[in-house]
Amino acid sequence: MPRLLTLLLILGLAAPALAETAPQVTVTPLKGTLYLLQGRGGNVVASVGDDGVLLVDDDFADLAPAYTAALAEVGGEGASPAYVLNTHWHTDHAGGNAFWGERDATIVAHANVRARMSTEQDMKALGRVVPPSPAVALPVVTYGENMGLHFNGMDIDLQHYPAGHTDGDTIVYFGAQNVVHMGDHFFKDRFPFIDLGSGGSVAGYIANVEAVLARIDADTVIVPGHGDIATKEDLERFHWMLVATSSQVTKARAQGQPGGVIVAHGLGPEWSSWGGGFVKEPQWIQTLLASP
Ligand SMILES: [Zn+2]
Repeated sequence: MPRLLTLLLILGLAAPALAETAPQVTVTPLKGTLYLLQGRGGNVVASVGDDGVLLVDDDFADLAPAYTAALAEVGGEGASPAYVLNTHWHTDHAGGNAFWGERDATIVAHANVRARMSTEQDMKALGRVVPPSPAVALPVVTYGENMGLHFNGMDIDLQHYPAGHTDGDTIVYFGAQNVVHMGDHFFKDRFPFIDLGSGGSVAGYIANVEAVLARIDADTVIVPGHGDIATKEDLERFHWMLVATSSQVTKARAQGQPGGVIVAHGLGPEWSSWGGGFVKEPQWIQTLLASP
């Protein structure tokens, strides 16, 4: 027994130390100049071609050296983005902005991303306060509804959607390549985090997912904010989960059940596998109950 305890202690201590010293980013080719880069936070899409490098999202700040290594792998030594597009302000998606901003990347995002990154954000749902970002990390090109960007021979459409995951989300469409980066409007096979404190809403989130479904087809390569590469079928399954669980909670509330009872009762075995990620089932029910 003491030997087992020692082993567990060694494993417990060694694993995080290893992760801290050698953060890894895996590279998966998508289509044409596009690659999926995966570290510890949100998924990153890179385009590497004749015009240089463009990133959609840049993960947590401490992963920047690992992304430097990953970009060198596909773009040659010293490859660095000319553009960084942010799908939204969260630090697991825009945490690398300061690093790339200092290296002359032009950061592009919806106007609300710049507004939220400019001021302290109290993320009550996570018990965390995020301080304002330094000026070099802020988007310098912002837009309201949408924006076109033409790079490496691609026509890239940055489309803002009304308050869903936050109030400043963009979904990035690589039209001719039929690749979409959905940001945190898609957690593959997981309950999503919807940031009600950043202007998000469940109804808006569902409507936005429906708008994406109407725009894509069976051949579209979907990059979710979190999880592996997905298809329209995966997004349809996610949409069904959103609709079914939210109507279940709405119905229970209409019957007068107190929130605590609804949370304790749970959503049923059909949905239990969806709670295996960052957002567990009780937190998802709390979000459904609290959403405006
Ligand atoms: Zn997010």
